[in-house]
Amino acid sequence: MRTLSSLSVLAALLPLAQLCSAHDQAVLPAELDPARRISFPDTAHYQTLVLDPHTHSSFSDGHVWPRIRIEEALRDGLDAIAITEHLEWQPHLADIPHTDRNRAYQVAREAAVEQALMVIPGSEITRSTEAGHINALFITDANQLLQQYQPEDPTDAMAYYRAMHAMPAQAAVDAAAAQGAFLFWNHPWWSDDFPDSIPVLTDFHRDNARSGKLKGIEIANGDYYSEQAFQMALDLDLTLIGASDIHELIDWDYRPHEGGHRPVTLVLAEEDTPAALQQALVEGRTLVWFKNTLMARELEMGELLQASLSITSANYSGESQLLDLVIRNRSDVDFQVEYAGDYSFSRNTDLLLLKQHADTRITVKTPQRLQRIELPLRVLNALVGPKESARISLSRQVATALKEITND
Ligand SMILES: [Zn+2]
Ligand SMILES: [Zn+2]
Repeated sequence: MRTLSSLSVLAALLPLAQLCSAHDQAVLPAELDPARRISFPDTAHYQTLVLDPHTHSSFSDGHVWPRIRIEEALRDGLDAIAITEHLEWQPHLADIPHTDRNRAYQVAREAAVEQALMVIPGSEITRSTEAGHINALFITDANQLLQQYQPEDPTDAMAYYRAMHAMPAQAAVDAAAAQGAFLFWNHPWWSDDFPDSIPVLTDFHRDNARSGKLKGIEIANGDYYSEQAFQMALDLDLTLIGASDIHELIDWDYRPHEGGHRPVTLVLAEEDTPAALQQALVEGRTLVWFKNTLMARELEMGELLQASLSITSANYSGESQLLDLVIRNRSDVDFQVEYAGDYSFSRNTDLLLLKQHADTRITVKTPQRLQRIELPLRVLNALVGPKESARISLSRQVATALKEITND
C-alpha cells in the first residue's frame, strides 16, 4: 500500500516532467514539426478549419487511448477532431467495461485543455446494410443513441454486437437528430457490404437525406476515395466529408514524416468556434483533402484556390516580350495545373507543378507587351465533381519596367 510519505519520496525522485506526463493532458515535444502541420490559408470570406471528423480509440475498436488522438491532432495541426466510437462494436468491453459512452470524448477533451484544438463530441452508429455506419457529431449524450444491455459474457463481442442491433438504426438516427447532431454516412462503399466498392443508395439514406437528418457523406475515408459517393453527395445535396477513420497510429498509416497526411475535411467557417464549425458543416461549406487532391463543389473550391494561388510578380525581361511571372502557392497541395490559354511558355510545357508553400517561376511569350496578364488554369488535382477538374484564372497588373521609365 502506498502511504503519503512514500508518495512524497516518489515525488522527490521523479523529475517534474514525468509527474506531469502521469496527468491526462497531452504532452508534446518542445518543437512541433512545421512541415507536418496540415496548412491551408483562410479564404477571402472564411477561416479554413482543418477537421478530422471520424477517429477511434480503445473505447471501441481503436488501439490507443484518446489522449494519443489529441497528441496526433496537435502534431498534424488540426483545428478540430471528433473521436467517434462505435456504439455497438465494443471488442475491448471485457477490459474497458465503461457504461458511459461519453467517456472517450471526456478523456480527449481533458487532454486538449489549454490547446488550440476543438474536441467535438460524436459517436458512430454501426449497423450492417442497409443503414451501414453513420457518424453523429455535436451530440449532447451518446448514451441516448443505444439501447441499454448488460452482456452475459463481455468477452463475446459478436454477441454484444448482435444484441445491440436490436435497436433500429432509424431510432438511433432520430435520437441523434433530436440532439441537434450533424449526421453523415460513413464509407458508403464499404467492402464488407459492397465487395465491388460501389455504394448503393438505399431508401433509408434517401429518406433521411430528404428529411434533413442525414446531412453529409464521406467521399474519402482512410486509404479510399469513391467517385460514386462524390456523385451521391452532389445528387442529394450532402456535405462532402473526408476522414482518417484511424484505428491504429496516424504515423503508421499516413507516414507524415515522409510527406503523407491523413484525409481531412477543410471547413470554411465564419469563425474558429464549434458553433461556426457546425454551421459551416450544415451549410455544406467543405472541401476534402485526400492524397494530394482537393475535392469540393465549385464555390468552395474557387474560394480556396483563389486564396492558395496568386501571381506575386509580373515583369518583362529587358526590351523583350518575355514576361516573367512568379506564382505563389500558400497551401499544402502540390498543384498539378494545365495552362488553358493561347500563349506559350519559354521554359515549360502547358503542364506545371506548383509546389506546396513555394514560388514557381515561369516565362510567358506574349505577342505584344501587356498591361495585365490573365493566366487561365485547369487544376488537375482539384476536383469539382467525379472526373471534373477545377478552373481558375490568375491575373496581375504587369509592373512597368524601371528601364523604360528612365529611358523616357
Ligand atoms: Zn472501427
Ligand atoms: Zn469508424
